[in-house]
Amino acid sequence: MDFESYIRDIEDFPKPGVMFKDITPLLKDPLALTKACDALMKSLNGLKIDKVVGVDSRGFIFAPMLAAKLDAGFIPVRKKGKLPYETISESYELEYGTDVLEMHTDAIQKGDRVLVHDDVLATGGTASAVCKLVEQLGGEVIQCNFLIQLTFLKGADKLNGYPIESLLKY
Ligand code: 5GP
Repeated sequence: MDFESYIRDIEDFPKPGVMFKDITPLLKDPLALTKACDALMKSLNGLKIDKVVGVDSRGFIFAPMLAAKLDAGFIPVRKKGKLPYETISESYELEYGTDVLEMHTDAIQKGDRVLVHDDVLATGGTASAVCKLVEQLGGEVIQCNFLIQLTFLKGADKLNGYPIESLLKY
């Protein structure tokens, strides 16, 4: 399927100079939604996964769908202060300053095989912090998958060695 035709470019969002990839046209289309989920599943090539970790907030769209198909659990990683139970945290760099991502301390069991999912891989700061959270709890990152990889931002360099899959590369 031509997924690219379902991605809308928004100029100067969320701030001037940024060309934002809007995935909502893909989400809105029943066939594109199903096919995107199927394609992410296919890129796993039958790998066994215990937990799918989705990243606040657009990672929460496909991660639970994948978890259900994989017979795995879904784990939310959220921005600081949003999770109700005890958390571990990792900070990551933004263009200006830093931000913090959190995960519940009981989210992952030692040895769990984990798929990390987010909608877009840009600079890689977010996904790299998520992988560190998984490893803090003794999980093994089996794959990081994304709908979109903005290759010119070199996010793959920050995910040193983790297998990466994406449906679309720009
Ligand atoms: P990174 O940490 O890799 O620089 O940024 C990735 C995070 O920012 C992801 O959680 C993603 O949702 C968001 N993001 C960055 N650029 C875009 C974009 O163009 N489109 C969308 N949908 N999300 C983006």
